[in-house]
Amino acid sequence: MEIYKGYLFDIYHSEQKIYLWIKSDSGELKLFVDEYFPIIYANASPTILKKLVKRFYELDALAEIPTFTEKRLFYQNKTIPVLKLVISKPQLLPKITNKLFNLYGKYDIYHSDIEITTGYMVEKNIYPLAYIRIEYEVSKNQINHIKNIKSLTDINELDYDVPELKAISLYLEKSHRHPFQENTLIAETSQKTYRIPTKNGINLIQNLNEIFKNHNPDIVLSSFGDQVIFPYLFKTAQENHLTTEFDRDKTSLIRRSIQTQGTSFNTYGTIVFRAPSYPLFGRWHIDSRNSFVYKEAELIGIIELSRISRLPIQKMARASTGKALTYIEVDVALRMNYLVPWQKSALESEKTALQLLNADKGGLVFQADIQNGFVLENVAQLDFSQMYPSIMVTHNISPETINCLCCEGEPNIENVPSLGYRICAKRKGIVSEALAHIVQRRNHYKEQKKNNHPNSMNIQSKQSSLKWMLVTSFGYLGYRNAKFGKLESHEAVTAFGREKLITAKEVSEEYNYNVVHGITDSIFIQKKDKSPISREDLTMLCLEIEKRTKIKMEIEGIYSWLCFPPSTQDEKLPVANRYMGCFINGQFKGRGIITRRKDFPKLIREAQNHMIQWMCQFKTIKEMQLKENEIIDIFYSYDQKLVTGNLNWKDLIIQKSTSKEPEDYTVDAPSTIAVKDLMDMGVRVQAGEKIKYIVVNQKSDKKGERYLTVERMEKKDNKTNNTSLHERSNSASINNEISTKSNHKTQKYDRRYYRNLLVKSFKEIWIGISSFKNFEILISEERFLPFCLEKNQNYCKTINTTNSIFIA
Ligand SMILES: [Zn+2]
Repeated sequence: MEIYKGYLFDIYHSEQKIYLWIKSDSGELKLFVDEYFPIIYANASPTILKKLVKRFYELDALAEIPTFTEKRLFYQNKTIPVLKLVISKPQLLPKITNKLFNLYGKYDIYHSDIEITTGYMVEKNIYPLAYIRIEYEVSKNQINHIKNIKSLTDINELDYDVPELKAISLYLEKSHRHPFQENTLIAETSQKTYRIPTKNGINLIQNLNEIFKNHNPDIVLSSFGDQVIFPYLFKTAQENHLTTEFDRDKTSLIRRSIQTQGTSFNTYGTIVFRAPSYPLFGRWHIDSRNSFVYKEAELIGIIELSRISRLPIQKMARASTGKALTYIEVDVALRMNYLVPWQKSALESEKTALQLLNADKGGLVFQADIQNGFVLENVAQLDFSQMYPSIMVTHNISPETINCLCCEGEPNIENVPSLGYRICAKRKGIVSEALAHIVQRRNHYKEQKKNNHPNSMNIQSKQSSLKWMLVTSFGYLGYRNAKFGKLESHEAVTAFGREKLITAKEVSEEYNYNVVHGITDSIFIQKKDKSPISREDLTMLCLEIEKRTKIKMEIEGIYSWLCFPPSTQDEKLPVANRYMGCFINGQFKGRGIITRRKDFPKLIREAQNHMIQWMCQFKTIKEMQLKENEIIDIFYSYDQKLVTGNLNWKDLIIQKSTSKEPEDYTVDAPSTIAVKDLMDMGVRVQAGEKIKYIVVNQKSDKKGERYLTVERMEKKDNKTNNTSLHERSNSASINNEISTKSNHKTQKYDRRYYRNLLVKSFKEIWIGISSFKNFEILISEERFLPFCLEKNQNYCKTINTTNSIFIA
């Protein structure tokens, strides 16, 4: 028997075999093989069970003779006899699960939809990047068979080591929508950048093979690798019978079906696009464009979630934070000996964190009824720390604990405020149990960040990945098709939330503050005499709120000034979660305003940001108002760029998500025209994918002249630059040159349209302060003075608390 130690780097399965890549301390990677027979449970009438067993025998899929065993039902908290089936062909499980879905209701089946590799890791108590000790034997054909496997590290560790990993980046020079052969593939390592022509597929693969051999990367970080690059590479390799170096694994039988079509699905009215998936075997392929967690929390965020959920890294990269959360809950449920319920949504699309969150936040809002937005001075913002998850932990809220059957009729048990639902007194809920650990982890990282941890970037990513998971936890709780979801438990959380926010408001008022704005888990308060607020005062207040609500209350900051822009739909109401202000230390905070929005062009966002920076140098509104002409000058400097065209057209690009399949568009919205134009170029944009275009002439009668997609522009550029491109290919600023100078004239764009956007961005942040109300006049053709400064203008509108409105 031989022994090997190292980190569990990659894990996947093929048929009943589990493959594990272990990276030793010296950096060596070794492949091991194990066998795994997952266990599922069934409960049905004897006739149906007989049929089921017969079917499994026919498929030769049972490793043992089925036996009855006692297990506990999750919702009912009742022990029942179930048939235990040990499956010898785990590869059949997805198919079986699919078939069973159609028979749903005729019998109950448990544990059949747990990912095979995760099931294996649960059984062995190991997890991705665990430090592992393996006892193994080498077979005649040089395969390392695992005899014993054990983790030497703990899954709950907070400050774990990550082995050193080598990475390579793969991306395309131009938009991924151009025909692949007309693009250039860039491969970037820490030492070198390769520009590989794509015209000849065979040469391309040979070039890449060479690079992979030389650098032997652990991680392939791509942009559009799942959607475009790898499908093309694998297809070309298959057609030409070429071997590739992309996978490290050359022994196991891996079959890939080549797929370029992604899936689009509708979640609560938003269309989401997900590209197909191209994991590698023995390396990590992470497509930054196809990974929510990567976008929000980078690689370390993926590692953090992958470890605690036992989802392999490449699966985690492509999954939602909700899926990771579900697996953490499964882990808890298995330890509690529950029959893990079947996930009805398994065959539906996956939901991303935000959509579930936005579906129904159900939080309490109180806000002042002020026209034209409003501006305040000396305001403090207090936030309940991780309010919803903390409520779930503190009040034991979980789908099985709300209105549980085991406590029916029992006196003196906790009820949900205003709803009166029972909360189980006999069981610790699995959602509350799972979240308790996640909340604890996040608090630990937040504490490290506060204490200036040397690796603050990593800490921030870990913290942020957990934040997203906690955000999802609330949505999943109420989502009836989630594995652990029930509407009443979701309602219970919001009911507690409202109660706590009202308590916070009452305590603040007792302490001589007015609540000027409140939403879900934060309140904005001002002293009744509007005088400056000190941190010491707030600490006292927070402790009192915490005492009464059992949820930690934190000081987000004290603002010198804070402004709530008016709603663009209804100018009388500020939007609940849109505000900006400057803390007393000069730091800016903004939510929901244009400079933070990706669907506005860069130039407009920059302009607003510039104006905000200017505003942040002042401590009072009065000071700002006295120098109003300066901010107007900033506005004009950007307007000047738009008028003269002295700009880079790329800064005018608008990015939008498409909401339909190309055929389904009927109205001539910008995205319709852009999508149809791409169709003409032979590019099919699926619903939920992003498109980028500039507005050329919005009012034009000819639809084709209204908007121009980036792809169309790049194509034009190609034509005009074909002759000269050669000499320049080494220049670093190649993109800029092509876009602005080489055409000898700037790309045409709709000046009026962009100038209007500029006005909008100015108005949003300045209307509560300005001495004039007609912002449109700033870009009017008649250039008379648009405003006159009124002396002693009453900018600080008084907020009358009786004026506040409550929206439940
Ligand atoms: Zn109970």
